Amino acid sequence: MSGRAPLSKRALSTSPSMTLGISARAKELRARGVNVVNLSAGEPDFDTPENIKEAAKRAIDSGFTKYTAAGGIPELKKAICEKLRRDNGLNYDPDEVLVSCGAKHSIFNILLAMCNDGDEVIIPSPYWTSYPEMVKIAGGKPVFVETGETGFKLTPEGLRSAISRRTKLVIVNTPCNPTGVVYTGDELRALGEVIAEHGIYCISDEVYEKLVYDGLKHVSLASLSPELMDLTITVNGASKTYSMTGWRIGYAAGPAEIIRAMDDIQGHSTSNPTSFCQKAALEALTGDQESVERMRREFERRRDYISNRLNRMGGIKLTKPQGAFYAFPDISEFLGREAGGRTIDGSCAFAEELLTRAGVAIVPGAAFGHDGAVRISFAASMEEIEEGMNRMEEFLEGLR
Ligand code: PLP
Repeated sequence: MSGRAPLSKRALSTSPSMTLGISARAKELRARGVNVVNLSAGEPDFDTPENIKEAAKRAIDSGFTKYTAAGGIPELKKAICEKLRRDNGLNYDPDEVLVSCGAKHSIFNILLAMCNDGDEVIIPSPYWTSYPEMVKIAGGKPVFVETGETGFKLTPEGLRSAISRRTKLVIVNTPCNPTGVVYTGDELRALGEVIAEHGIYCISDEVYEKLVYDGLKHVSLASLSPELMDLTITVNGASKTYSMTGWRIGYAAGPAEIIRAMDDIQGHSTSNPTSFCQKAALEALTGDQESVERMRREFERRRDYISNRLNRMGGIKLTKPQGAFYAFPDISEFLGREAGGRTIDGSCAFAEELLTRAGVAIVPGAAFGHDGAVRISFAASMEEIEEGMNRMEEFLEGLR
């Protein structure tokens, strides 16, 4: 024994992922025979489309199983450039694109490539649970801007108030996990003006871009002006659009200098994203897109159902999700009440009691920096959602 603590300060300041934790607990209860309705998932419940699976099988059978270029195969980078041009109005060259092991990995690479110790990264709250942890691991400092009073959207004033001399980046996530809000072009333009005025950089996380409802159109921040194109790193991936969460393919597009630094970091950490998964992602981007719209329509149907049910539950307040596959209802009305002798003192207690007493797994808002709400995923079958809502309604009626 050397007597030295085995863990780094970096490791000690990192919290475990609460979202993955709840899913694991729900699966564990299920394995023990408990009838659990799992509405905590952060991934589509559909199978990966057949044409994509076939492309991966063909790649394996043809021996495409070795190292590739660390930052992705040229034909996939080219397909990503075409996709960004076609869908997002963004003109990137292949040397401005990096393929990584999921969008999470893309974001991590950006932060490692751009943050010096103590650099500040502005994160609108509620936020996707991994942003602050990744910022901290990269040596940066998360700076939160509360958006609960502004319809869960970052406003130009909110952004301006958080900018300091140390600000390096702001993270904008549209459509947003966990709130389901979708920024309009005008809202992004207004944020873009503040970003350009201060010359800070922006990570635009667009992984849910294809899951928007009510006829809305997703807008990419970088497409709004040449200045924003220079200051934005656009992140997207195959996970949510093509139901490919396990394949681990994401990508980033941005200024060549930043992408090159990310490529160097990736080259010394994971090396290339899995070779045959890149071939599958190539098929996803260039093949038939019919399954994307089919899944989107089904999510919209579920979104309508879950919103109606939640709105009918007394005490629940919902900002109707316009994108992604989560509802983020406010449950603060129920805080301070009791369930079986235990006081519900926050979203964690609420989620724990709902799981233990009613067998419904959801994620506490605390995981997203917002204790007055919970995240309910509608990436589950209609039957499960219906049963989950029945049980939740009964649970709420029992709270005194
Ligand atoms: N960004 C957001 C907002 C997410 O919700 C997720 C996954 O849950 C990701 C990025 C990462 O996606 P992946 O790493 O599977 O591509």
